[in-house]
Amino acid sequence: MSYALVVSEVRKNLFEERNFDSIGLSALLEREAVLLVPEGAQNVNETIVDRILKVKAGEDLFLNPLNLTSILENVFETHGKPDFLLFTHSASGMEAAAYAAGYFSFPIITDVSGFNKETGSFSKSYYSDKIFGEFKSVLARTCILTVRSGSFKDHAGERAGAATTETIEAPHADEGRAFLEYVEEEKAAVDITKAELLVSVGRGIGSKDEVPKYEELAKVIKGVLSCSRPVVDKLWLPKERQVGTSGKTVKPKVYLAMGISGAFQHIAGMQDSDCIIAVNRDPEAPIFQYAHFGIVADVHKLRDKLIETAKGS
Ligand SMILES: Cc1cc2nc3c(=O)[nH]c(=O)nc-3n(C[C@H](O)[C@H](O)[C@H](O)COP(=O)(O)OP(=O)(O)OC[C@H]3O[C@@H](n4cnc5c(N)ncnc54)[C@H](O)[C@@H]3O)c2cc1C
Repeated sequence: MSYALVVSEVRKNLFEERNFDSIGLSALLEREAVLLVPEGAQNVNETIVDRILKVKAGEDLFLNPLNLTSILENVFETHGKPDFLLFTHSASGMEAAAYAAGYFSFPIITDVSGFNKETGSFSKSYYSDKIFGEFKSVLARTCILTVRSGSFKDHAGERAGAATTETIEAPHADEGRAFLEYVEEEKAAVDITKAELLVSVGRGIGSKDEVPKYEELAKVIKGVLSCSRPVVDKLWLPKERQVGTSGKTVKPKVYLAMGISGAFQHIAGMQDSDCIIAVNRDPEAPIFQYAHFGIVADVHKLRDKLIETAKGS
């Protein structure tokens, strides 16, 4: 049977949530879903794929694209080549996928966020989801896909029973590059992942001088201040406050996004919030597609009004 091979992303032995998007897409592709994991991976839900291939290797070897191609060669020899080879669209997923595409001469489609069953084409977005491109593999060989976080996880359904598990021998350890260690961030003064209400500011607030006013707003409504990446890049707020793929993933009860456009790298970090309220002066801003409540307004005017109202109550 033709199958889709999902190369999992594992960090410190934990199976990352973003793998569910690759698993969800493999379900839409109507292929047998086979998961490739390093043997130390914990919290793998064994009922959401058909087969699991556990590699006798630590995450350090598995993460290395040079070793991964040796693991894949082994899988292809014993199981044949899959129709699709899926990776997460993350820093390590993109690196490994690109390397594998070059090594095996497989076509690759990156940052896939949509699939059209009728045409068999994959879509990816440009300009913060304003334009979508459609792609299709036109070669009769394995197609590599990197899958955007948050796009397909809802399609990852449970099977009646646990997947069958097989063990794959350790790869030939490539000596060209060695994983040394994870370097932890310094402990942050504020942990935005624990907040129940986040007031999140974006480039739309205009300048660093505005930040104290948003801090005041967060304080009076008993929230915590977070932000998008440009706010960190411009040194308006520290990195520990950043929400998104290269920042933190947050799930507060209320996420108030002020002057944030809604680029997917930001959305991926906050889309599971219970209630998203977006304030933006552009009615076409992509963030409104994800918001439960949208307000087309000038952020500063609304901020001042909210502070005034909260102080008065
Ligand atoms: C590898 C990579 C990783 C990334 N990681 C992250 C990440 O972790 N987190 C992240 O946030 N981004 C990340 N980005 C950047 C991301 O692509 C966007 O550039 C970024 O999210 C945009 O931030 P923004 O919405 O604050 O700014 P903009 O896109 O510039 O949006 C500003 C918004 O403010 C609105 N606005 C302006 N003035 C006002 C006003 N007076 N009143 C109301 N609205 C106003 C505008 O209409 C606009 O929609 C990453 C990018 C890359 C390439």
